[in-house]
Amino acid sequence: MELNERAELDTSQANDVGRGSGGGGGGGMGIPIPGGGGKGGIIGIVVAVIIALLGGGFGLNAMNNGDEGGQAGGDDLDQVCSTANPDRLQDARCRNLLFVNSIQAYWKKAYPELGKGNYEPTTTNFFQQAVNTGCGQADSGVGPFYCPADQKVYIDLGFYDELATRFGAKGEFAQPYVLAHEYGHHVQDLLGTNAKAGQGDQSGPKSASVRLELQADCYAGSWAKHASESKDKSGQEPLFKSITEADVSQAVDAAEAIGDDSIQERSGGQVNPDQFTHGTSEQRKRWFSRGYEGGDPKTCDTFGTDQL
Ligand SMILES: [Zn+2]
Repeated sequence: MELNERAELDTSQANDVGRGSGGGGGGGMGIPIPGGGGKGGIIGIVVAVIIALLGGGFGLNAMNNGDEGGQAGGDDLDQVCSTANPDRLQDARCRNLLFVNSIQAYWKKAYPELGKGNYEPTTTNFFQQAVNTGCGQADSGVGPFYCPADQKVYIDLGFYDELATRFGAKGEFAQPYVLAHEYGHHVQDLLGTNAKAGQGDQSGPKSASVRLELQADCYAGSWAKHASESKDKSGQEPLFKSITEADVSQAVDAAEAIGDDSIQERSGGQVNPDQFTHGTSEQRKRWFSRGYEGGDPKTCDTFGTDQL
């Protein structure tokens, strides 16, 4: 993957909200557990509890440091990621902003074909350690997530280190996959799929939660198919200079690494399908690939099939 250093980034699509200091005096960890499409619950890419089992989560210690809530400011991405800064694409936030721009440029085109009006862009908030959201307080231990209540994506970019070290998904193209998965939840929110799924089963191999997550993986695949076509803010420059098959296979590897069965095994437990919320490694890989091969979100109908 090569990013286009001439691309003009749309900085309105992400914020650096800085470091949250946790708790509001509650004392507990205050982690809202991702619960499928449940009302008010966050929708993550992995299971929070499991991350904690795998080694205490990351950034969790920060929760004990201060008992004042609130957020200590991050940088202004307008400046950091502007073309005036020649080193901007070395900054993980600007690289991820570029991914977000590409994902939303894709949906701006693809969404109307789903027959439910136009795509509404949303922002990604980069945070460190803890963050206040419309879904409540969250910390990095939950992994990246989408909050339906405020319709925003949240990510502590330190998650990518976890993905590489703990889950073994080292490739950089894992990063836009993770974001495209979360934006898949935003698309589901706009379509009303989240709300519908929230009324179904929240765990189990054929649960509404698993269908929602596999569909988000498939949506990520359909973005990946078209990613190299996406243009920058000016509409003149492509955001990516190149994306290779090897890049795409890094996304597939990442999807595979975070299957429920793999995570359960890695955390030392037995594989228990009743507790599946995101789908198995094989399923996540396959649905991402289906989206990629078809390049069409209409092929991502995980709710209308028994062949999950
Ligand atoms: Zn998800």
